[in-house]
Amino acid sequence: MTTTTSLPSMMVLGATGSVGLQALDVAREQSMRVTALSANRSVGEMEALAREFKPLACAMADAAAAADLRLRLADTGIRVYDDVCTMIAETEGEIVLNSIVGRAGLEPTLTALRTGRRLALANKESLVVAGDIVMAAAREAGQIILPVDSEHSAIFQSLGAGRREDLKKILLTASGGPFFGRTREELSQITVAQTLAHPTWKMGAKITVDSATLMNKGFEVIEAVHLFGVTTEQIEVVVHRESIIHSMVEYNDNSIIAQLGVPDMRTCVRYAVTYPARVAGDVGAIDWRTLGSLTFYAPDMDTFTLLPLATHCIDRGGAMPAVLNAANEVAVAAFLDERLSFTGIMDTVAATVAAMPDAASCRSLDEIAEADRTARRIAGEPIR
Ligand code: MG
Repeated sequence: MTTTTSLPSMMVLGATGSVGLQALDVAREQSMRVTALSANRSVGEMEALAREFKPLACAMADAAAAADLRLRLADTGIRVYDDVCTMIAETEGEIVLNSIVGRAGLEPTLTALRTGRRLALANKESLVVAGDIVMAAAREAGQIILPVDSEHSAIFQSLGAGRREDLKKILLTASGGPFFGRTREELSQITVAQTLAHPTWKMGAKITVDSATLMNKGFEVIEAVHLFGVTTEQIEVVVHRESIIHSMVEYNDNSIIAQLGVPDMRTCVRYAVTYPARVAGDVGAIDWRTLGSLTFYAPDMDTFTLLPLATHCIDRGGAMPAVLNAANEVAVAAFLDERLSFTGIMDTVAATVAAMPDAASCRSLDEIAEADRTARRIAGEPIR
């Protein structure tokens, strides 16, 4: 157990989700002060976390859940909000770790930046949906965004080895997902249970499906464009099945700098919340004697069509990535509900993007929100 008094205090948003719980593991491991917690509606879990971490405030996205939690915590003096953005604005805390799932993470991201907090960002949808607006808010606030996504954390770390003007390209690694090497025909038969079994990284259901379709990798291309100011031509996706190299960057002299480690989100969270320090934690080191070989493949863009579709959407710009994300959220929910097939996810998202070419000219948050709503309606129409 490491005790460090100089580490910053932290708010954990999406605290009962997979990344949120791993962030709280890091808080326990490093004895970090947690000043605020948020969740959707898991009241019982939140009560237990609140009693353990004794934050100043909690927020539940669901109003009835907030009322319930307020009653349960009546003896504690912990403030309970039904709006996460108000909680962020009214509560102290140096770092906001945003691990909310989906588009709902966007406003908390903007609130964190606008109230001058350092943002440890696990909610990739913030950047997918409104990357230009989020990056502008970070610049205005003079804040850097510390990526929690393993690939972007690796890229961020590797970029420390050279000057930005000497960067040639980013090599974004992908595990390839559980269905690497399958044909489109085979993918059409994939079940929910097969999709959720045995991911390399410990993740929630939504991102596990996104990893299996490679939508997640497509989102990560969009994330990288915004975080690192590169074009899609400068990003190459490399399938690396072992998930030991977490991504690489290549400089003009053809030198490649990579970050490697045991695949465990707690390492990414710990780096993001303790940056620029590198502190010891509970995740082990790579053992070269048992590691064996590292393999690399090109992604199958003809079968996993959501990956090239993501590149298309960010190249078109405007609200096209928001449309991509909204359609995917609807399609993945339907798949998890067994109302849509695995390949139906890809078809639904592609059809929605194709139906909304004008979204490329949307710029403001209001226009993006409107495109998001339209995309959800179009994506949902053919799904029973
Ligand atoms: Mg990732």
